[in-house]
Amino acid sequence: MYALEIKNLKKVYNGGVEALKGVDLMVEQGDFFALLGPNGAGKSTTIGILSSLVNKTSGQVKIFGHDINDELELAKSHIGLVPQEFNFNQFETVQQIVVNQAGYYGVKRKEALIRSETYLKQTDLWKKKDTPARNLSGGMKRRLMIARAMMHQPKLLILDEPTAGVDIEIRRSMWQFLRKINEQGVTIILTTHYLEEAESLCRNIAIIDKGQIVENTSMKRLLTQL
Ligand code: ADP
Ligand code: ADP
Repeated sequence: MYALEIKNLKKVYNGGVEALKGVDLMVEQGDFFALLGPNGAGKSTTIGILSSLVNKTSGQVKIFGHDINDELELAKSHIGLVPQEFNFNQFETVQQIVVNQAGYYGVKRKEALIRSETYLKQTDLWKKKDTPARNLSGGMKRRLMIARAMMHQPKLLILDEPTAGVDIEIRRSMWQFLRKINEQGVTIILTTHYLEEAESLCRNIAIIDKGQIVENTSMKRLLTQL
């Protein structure tokens, strides 16, 4: 069984933009996978469909074997999403944000508090647990987004341009967290337009352009082709 199986996925937005023109993609369990492509290629649309923020026009999507048409809630329960924009309440504290998130997934408060310690320590935010989110640096806010996405212990973590606009030092420290999470058995898919990021982190890669997959290979093989 694959972590993610996408077959002939199409998306036409209202207004007629063909954002995805028949995408096929398989991601194995435990993989660290990059979806690389220029702006407008269809990366956010793909992620939007996986996280059910965008309705697909046609095609099939399975997450750990669960088709999003038939078993949406089950499929969603396996996914942790880290969107590009900070979408937490800036006035809540770091710990409130992650504990509340667990609550949305039905995790009991006592267990949520235990998990908050685990994931805030892992992302180096435990010392900031009582700080309102608005007082965090940009890099810390990015890490908070990752900690929050882990609170329901998803088997698949999906990150949309996780390091867009952050400087190289913060980027490197985020790469380390992501590697650790992957080593614990969580499948990771990220979108990026930095080849360097994909190269440093990912085992497998798909390149998307104008709504179509133009390359799908191992990182190693891609690098020997360049
Ligand atoms: P990427 O994430 O790779 O930059 P997107 O998935 O955001 O690409 O966009 C793919 C195409 O779909 C682009 O042409 C973009 O302008 C268009 N698009 C994205 N979102 C919408 C939307 N909500 N309505 C209409 N067109 C959209
Ligand atoms: P869906 O088909 O998933 O319901 P829509 O086509 O209704 O998505 O578009 C969602 C929203 O995104 C709309 O409010 C639309 O105005 C806006 N939008 C339109 N064009 C773009 C674009 N190129 N990039 C991003 N958002 C866009």
